[in-house]
Amino acid sequence: MNTAVIGYPRIGKDRELKFASEKFFKGEIGEDQLQSAAASIRKENWLKQKDEGITYISSNDFSFYDNVLDTAFLFNIIPQRYKDLNLSSLETYFAMARGYQGAKGNVKALAMKKWFNTNYHYLVPQIDDDAKISLTGSKPVDEYLEAKAYGVETKPALVGPFTFLKLAKFTGTKTVSDVYQILTGEYIKLVSALASKGAEFIEFDEPYLVRDLSSDDIDLFKKIYTSILSNKNGVKILLQTYFGDVRDIYDVIIALDFDAIGLDFIEGRKTAQLIKDNGFPEEKILFAGVINGKNIWRNNYKTTLSVLKDIDADNVVVNTSCSLLHVPYTLKSETKLKEEYRKHFAFAEEKLSELNEISKLIVKDFTSEEAYVKNQELFEKRADAEDKAVQERVAAITDADYVRLPSFEEREKIQKETFKLPKFPTTTIGSFPQTADVRKNRLAFRKGEISKEEYDEFNKKKIAECIKLQEQIGLDVLVHGEFERNDMVEYFGENLNGYVFTEKAWVQSYGTRNVKPPIIWGDVSRRSAITVEWSKYAQSLTDKPVKGMLTGPVTILNWSFPREDISIKESILQIALAIRDEVLDLEANGIKIIQIDEAALREKLPLRKSDWYSEYLDFAIPAFRLVHSKVKPETQIHTHMCYSEFTDIIPAIDAMDADVITFEASRSDLQILDSLKENNFKTEVGPGVYDIHSPRVPSVDEIVNALTNMRKKIDDSKLWVNPDCGLKTRGDEETKASLINLVKAASIIRG
Ligand code: GLN
Ligand code: ZN
Repeated sequence: MNTAVIGYPRIGKDRELKFASEKFFKGEIGEDQLQSAAASIRKENWLKQKDEGITYISSNDFSFYDNVLDTAFLFNIIPQRYKDLNLSSLETYFAMARGYQGAKGNVKALAMKKWFNTNYHYLVPQIDDDAKISLTGSKPVDEYLEAKAYGVETKPALVGPFTFLKLAKFTGTKTVSDVYQILTGEYIKLVSALASKGAEFIEFDEPYLVRDLSSDDIDLFKKIYTSILSNKNGVKILLQTYFGDVRDIYDVIIALDFDAIGLDFIEGRKTAQLIKDNGFPEEKILFAGVINGKNIWRNNYKTTLSVLKDIDADNVVVNTSCSLLHVPYTLKSETKLKEEYRKHFAFAEEKLSELNEISKLIVKDFTSEEAYVKNQELFEKRADAEDKAVQERVAAITDADYVRLPSFEEREKIQKETFKLPKFPTTTIGSFPQTADVRKNRLAFRKGEISKEEYDEFNKKKIAECIKLQEQIGLDVLVHGEFERNDMVEYFGENLNGYVFTEKAWVQSYGTRNVKPPIIWGDVSRRSAITVEWSKYAQSLTDKPVKGMLTGPVTILNWSFPREDISIKESILQIALAIRDEVLDLEANGIKIIQIDEAALREKLPLRKSDWYSEYLDFAIPAFRLVHSKVKPETQIHTHMCYSEFTDIIPAIDAMDADVITFEASRSDLQILDSLKENNFKTEVGPGVYDIHSPRVPSVDEIVNALTNMRKKIDDSKLWVNPDCGLKTRGDEETKASLINLVKAASIIRG
């Protein structure tokens, strides 16, 4: 059986691309050196896949920043403001990705959004009315030829025109219907250019097909591909989908003249059924996505082989479920991971071996094959992953555990009485600047250069300074500053049982930014109090309330590699119980306001609306309530979200039953406020009054203005005043100046 890979990680196994790009940005290396770093990564990736015997290897899966941006660039969809800078081609590309500030001008970057249900971000193509869509680039052709020169025949992978147009933002009067024919024509030119260089197969990635599609969408897709498929120039076309099933359009795509269709059997709950019900055309090849491109666990060959055997298609290729971009490079880089853990994981490189093994096993009577037997041993009970006590606790959860009493309205009264805060109370989101001294202290401790006592002493000093600063500035609800935390998920993971950590398992989040998600290995519980000492200490220094600061269960789970042997729901509940222990400990230790951050709650919202509640919110929201339901009426629960796009799920957010929610609003058009009003949102709100993602200090007027607008939509008794996210990436100076202005603005409004 043949094998295929949709895409390979491209940051380099030691993050070479990140480091080379950053040097290039600083002017420390030239374009040549950056290009050669990129070329080595591509070469290594191709040869690795070739060595593993992968049949269909992708090219054009590399990107300096993002492959949606690459596509815009390829077709000259470059807004005028970037062209006006008169930069080199690569610099123009980076200006679109990161913005440009320098001798030639000052322009903002394109908007960035999360790529479907992943933590990867793409740049949103901007199609202006004067866009001259035209195939001006040659990246797919160049990379195809580059691979060929190494003796690797590849399938150029393209972001398909349908997905591209659906993700693009139209800024003028033109819409999709005005441009799709032109764009399709340019794709056809690209197909022909690739054909002339000898490409046999071209992959069109169309993940948008797994979303809910309207009849207009289906129409558009048909028109685009009818045209492309009648101009194939002898090349075979693979339609590649991922992140779900294509239930709305399966009948259409199998009727079109595609030579191959890639379907996702991991996230596509209905994929197998669609094939059973509708059949799969015998002249087409089915690329079966059975190797999970998003998680790091070894594949269970028993399940996979049975899925493959069940498929009623003549020609099946074993494929990854999506690009391997979403998993780390290789287990080989993990020097500290013990064999008993390691053998359970497969990063990108190990997934290549899995594809290879499965392709060989399927054609045999595999049950006695060594590879199969060894694989199955991994799926016997992992005794050390099990914790009976945790399982019993989860089983004992009752409906009442999800309900906080008394009702929000009564609590609101009690809390106004308890805290006697001024109108429009001022606060921050939690972290204060993680300046060089803070990071140096942590690094010294990690390297064993200073003792735990010295490490703690330093952080205490920082906390004391932070409290003093906030009192001087005149904030109403204080924070301790989070100096002891590296990352809001890793910090908790390190203090919970059931977690495993890696050294170099980096995954691209956007551009040169990578994340290293921890792995949930087993049942999760709290070893001992995590944040209590810090919060207690901070509270001891002031009469004003200091917020306890925690990360919520949904975010902890969403930013980790989850288990596959138990359900996501079960894992979230375990984490919720652990965080609940922390909440109750904070309360018992005199902390009166506790913030539980859910920065990533929206991230895993299913792609299909019909799944939003049943597949996610129905357990994610109660899990949050489970965390705080047992606190006293006068204890005030805050939550925070780093975005404001929850217009569609406002009732669910209200049902978290927090007392206060802070969120990002400064960069959005405040449309969310209308929706809050329409939905009678009960929770008190702190829509961020300034953007912390920039070092700019907002003026008092600006903040007064923002608040004035907010007051039109939000009742005065419910409005809080705060920045839009944590301050950890900011410097001391600008933070102080900004907060002084924030407090001034609040007092002007009060007056
Ligand atoms: N409390 C966290 C902080 O202030 C929240 C971070 C976040 O929302 N990403 O840093
Ligand atoms: Zn935030």
